[in-house]
Amino acid sequence: MPVYRAKDGVLQLPDSSEEWKEGFTFIQAADCQLGMTWSCRGAGGYGENNGYQDNPEYENSTWNHEIRWCNSFVSMVNKMEIKPKFAIMCGDILDAWPNNGEVALRVRDKQYVDFQKIFKELDIPLVCVCGNHDVGNSPTEETVDKYRSDFGDDWFSFVCNGVFCIVINSQYYHDPQFVPEIAAEHDSWLDEQLKIAESGKYKHSILFQHIPWFLNAPDEPKVYYNFPQPFRENMLKRLSDAGISKIFCGHYHRNAGGWYNDKMELIVTSAIGLQQGTDRNGFRVVSVAEKSISHEYVELDNIDE
Ligand SMILES: [Zn+2]
Repeated sequence: MPVYRAKDGVLQLPDSSEEWKEGFTFIQAADCQLGMTWSCRGAGGYGENNGYQDNPEYENSTWNHEIRWCNSFVSMVNKMEIKPKFAIMCGDILDAWPNNGEVALRVRDKQYVDFQKIFKELDIPLVCVCGNHDVGNSPTEETVDKYRSDFGDDWFSFVCNGVFCIVINSQYYHDPQFVPEIAAEHDSWLDEQLKIAESGKYKHSILFQHIPWFLNAPDEPKVYYNFPQPFRENMLKRLSDAGISKIFCGHYHRNAGGWYNDKMELIVTSAIGLQQGTDRNGFRVVSVAEKSISHEYVELDNIDE
């Protein structure tokens, strides 16, 4: 089915029922990032992300690795005996930056076509979350508009079988300097969603985002992949106070995660795409029961080169 799009802050799933009926599963994945392998290797150095856009070969770059990994994901999910209610891709959908010149934009458009072609084969709804590669590390009005025309709203909420799901765009917290009004709008919208979570109307309230607040522990030092203090602590407290019980993230290209206050778990899921640690490409199967939520990382089949 076509990739799902949110409109006016709401995403409608086939099962958007407000009432809890029975336990169910969904799939959480991240960073399919079509093109990343070429970006990291094409400029002549694995892991070197600099300078690839100046490589004359960039215009003709390919992403066969990512196509194979994404196809493996789609076929594994389609074969699941218990059909998950939805799958969610927690950001960095495409690798080519939307704000890095015309060549990158042309490459990105090709990555977008392939992404749509692969994921329309998925038998369950795919929900997209905005990552740094999707609007740029410092989003602008142009990159946000481009994202919205390609993928629909970049922040929204949805309900599935009595569970409340909030999707935020973590880039507005990473660097709002060029879009202060949009970032403020996003933050006050989040406040409204947290009031709904706090009302206790739903069995669980969960959050999806790209950049994790922390990787392993709420009080760890600032590194490239997390948020600085004291902002991190303020956000974690705000989310936990509202009754958010799980936060699912990507961005790290490795598995990680930890707990805040023993009440709220943050889960970092490694990539469908290129790995930056020792995990293997994969995704997470999340099982939602009436009183608890559990999750398990599943490696992709047939991923060796
Ligand atoms: Zn990222």
